[in-house]
Amino acid sequence: MFAEVIVDIAASEIDRIFDYDCGDLDVTRGVRVNVPFGRLVTEGFVIGIKETSALPKDKIKKVIKILDKQPIITDEMFELMDYMTSRLRLMKVDVLRLFIPAAMRGGRVRELTRQFAYLSEDYRDRDPNEFIRKSALAQHELFEYLLTEKPEGELVSELTKVTSASALKNLAERGIVVITDTELMRLPYSDIKPDKSKKVILTEEQAHAVNAITHASGQSFLLHGVTGSGKTEVYMHCIEETLKQSRTAIMLVPEISLTPQVLRNFRSRFGDSVAILHSALSHGEKFDEWRKCLSGDAKVVLGARSAVFAPLENLGIIIIDEEHDSSYVSDRNPRYSTAEIAEWRVKYNGANLVLGSATPSVETYYSSKICKYRLLELTGRVNKRPLPEIEVVNMCREIAHGNNSIFSTSLMRELDDCIKNGNQAMLFLNRRGYASFVMCKACGYVAKCERCDVSLVYHREESRLKCHYCGNMYSTLDVCPQCGSPFMKEGYIGTEKVVRILEEAFPGVGVLRMDNDTTRSKGAHAKILAEFGSKKAQLLVGTQMIAKGHDFPDVTLVGILDADMSLHMADYRSVERTYQLTTQVAGRAGRALQKGKVVLQTYAPQHYVYNYVRTGDYKGFYEKEINLREVTKYPPFSTIMRVMVSGTDDGKASEVLKNIYERIIKLKDENPEKFLYLAYMRAPLKKIMDEYRMKILVRVAVNSDDVIGSIYDIVNDCKVSKVTSYAEVNPVKLS
Ligand code: ADP
Ligand code: ZN
Ligand code: ZN
Repeated sequence: MFAEVIVDIAASEIDRIFDYDCGDLDVTRGVRVNVPFGRLVTEGFVIGIKETSALPKDKIKKVIKILDKQPIITDEMFELMDYMTSRLRLMKVDVLRLFIPAAMRGGRVRELTRQFAYLSEDYRDRDPNEFIRKSALAQHELFEYLLTEKPEGELVSELTKVTSASALKNLAERGIVVITDTELMRLPYSDIKPDKSKKVILTEEQAHAVNAITHASGQSFLLHGVTGSGKTEVYMHCIEETLKQSRTAIMLVPEISLTPQVLRNFRSRFGDSVAILHSALSHGEKFDEWRKCLSGDAKVVLGARSAVFAPLENLGIIIIDEEHDSSYVSDRNPRYSTAEIAEWRVKYNGANLVLGSATPSVETYYSSKICKYRLLELTGRVNKRPLPEIEVVNMCREIAHGNNSIFSTSLMRELDDCIKNGNQAMLFLNRRGYASFVMCKACGYVAKCERCDVSLVYHREESRLKCHYCGNMYSTLDVCPQCGSPFMKEGYIGTEKVVRILEEAFPGVGVLRMDNDTTRSKGAHAKILAEFGSKKAQLLVGTQMIAKGHDFPDVTLVGILDADMSLHMADYRSVERTYQLTTQVAGRAGRALQKGKVVLQTYAPQHYVYNYVRTGDYKGFYEKEINLREVTKYPPFSTIMRVMVSGTDDGKASEVLKNIYERIIKLKDENPEKFLYLAYMRAPLKKIMDEYRMKILVRVAVNSDDVIGSIYDIVNDCKVSKVTSYAEVNPVKLS
């Protein structure tokens, strides 16, 4: 027999099937094998088995070893691989790598085995005095202990805590105690225990949504529910129904909103049948949770983006919560959109798809309008709690009145009240560090990264200037390196400085900060949330990390310090992003019994988006936005394709860009009606990590899959060494 193998080496010229002779080995489709490749031995995925090979016998090498006891790639995943390679022009090996935990490759993670001891059947019912000397007290104790306390046996590591190791050794050597290796499953977040699952009575709207979804098959839904409308409850009911039909479920959430709260809810409701797939898991935990899916022990997967590839069989439902979140689009190779993969999988399984959000992306909402998705709405918060009142504060006026602080008078007053009443507040600023840049007042010098075309951010606690793109650190500047002036000015305020201002203004109330800097270590994220949840601190300052999912009953005030940050980006989605982010953050306020208040600070109070945010009028916002998109021919009325080219050699990269551009021009001449826009330019971030970056932007008419495919092909054709180039469809970032 011959095995068709994709070797685990990422290079386009190798990304094809190689035949290997199975020899005496029982190789099956879906396992990994060791095979000779060139002068190396490498791992490979067996994607097929056949009786004959077209290659001459002396050219065929033998499979060295089988690496998996059972297939680890299912038939469904093989078909998904075919879809992804043909549609997105990805390499097979890149796609296969997505399907398994990274650390499995190269055998960097293994099953966890432990020694386990139990009394031998032959001795269990006998009088120990027959075979243990009277004086060997420890042996008697051990025998007694295993007989009465641990009839099922016990881990050796636990046993040696209570009895003598030499007694155990002695009994084991004589066969009275049997020691075997057993496999242990690592349980992530084992400290999160299920609490008593309280059954809630669904609101009418929730019940209607659950009913519609559970009675459908092979349908896609958009669940549009305002913040605090109980979407999670709807999801959990749908999953329950799916399990009752002996089918399985995947629920995806953005990485940062996979909070202990959500985990506890799922553990409480679904017990051991839940597997969690999350980047914060250790390699071992991830491996075990993934195997739980493959073995069928897990019926529900809760995870971030990559959990869409969880190897569950017989899927009944995929849920994508906060579907508008940009983390669902992979922005590194292999690039894919989670919703597209989910759509493929539900189609394959005849399952339902549910996209949920309080602020659906304009494109998704449009899909519901054209009946691609069925729209379900939750218009009110559970228990009829009101949405928080949103006050839009004109920051220009604050300055005119002599207030240069990042806090408006109104927000300060609200903070004061909130704290006095013993409540909590969340303050949102999407800029971390202490100051966004440092500039010389005398000559205008701005500290920049040596490797990237960006200014450095001042981090006061570490007393460093940091590059947020490559992570390089620089020492702080006492004097200007250009002119020697000691007068340095700090740029926009970041989260670190906000904390400092608050600590000075409200001594003793406790201020927590949640951003990329404070959540780097494992468990730090959960710890901050737990501290805030236990009311150790009354104030939480954070970047968009605090925007999602959190449900803190005592938060009555939300302050949005600089709502305009996303508004002025050169991106057709900047207004949409602003609407989403501010609405999500605002939604953290007043979720329980007390009324919530939001203070939204802006320098552009007249901008239409804030009117819709203030009144919570998603539909109004959508209508305005969709009209604009239709007139300007942006998605969903076109598809954007971006070709990125970068390299340390500017000239070489430009050459590649030019080649690609010229071929796309030719394609455009052949299909003029399909091209709405085509241009090349330097990327807004001209250089990152010593690489010069440039791009081609294309907008093509809808239904231009052929043109999109051709552009992918052109980019692949024009690859040269030392220059990175790739194409992506509707990228989340255009910077
Ligand atoms: P969303 O995700 O829509 O913002 P959540 O799912 O977080 O809202 O729900 C908000 C809160 O309401 C949660 O504490 C949840 O337990 C509670 N909840 C949800 N549905 C009900 C219900 N039918 N009755 C009572 N409480 C509910
Ligand atoms: Zn200077
Ligand atoms: Zn840098």
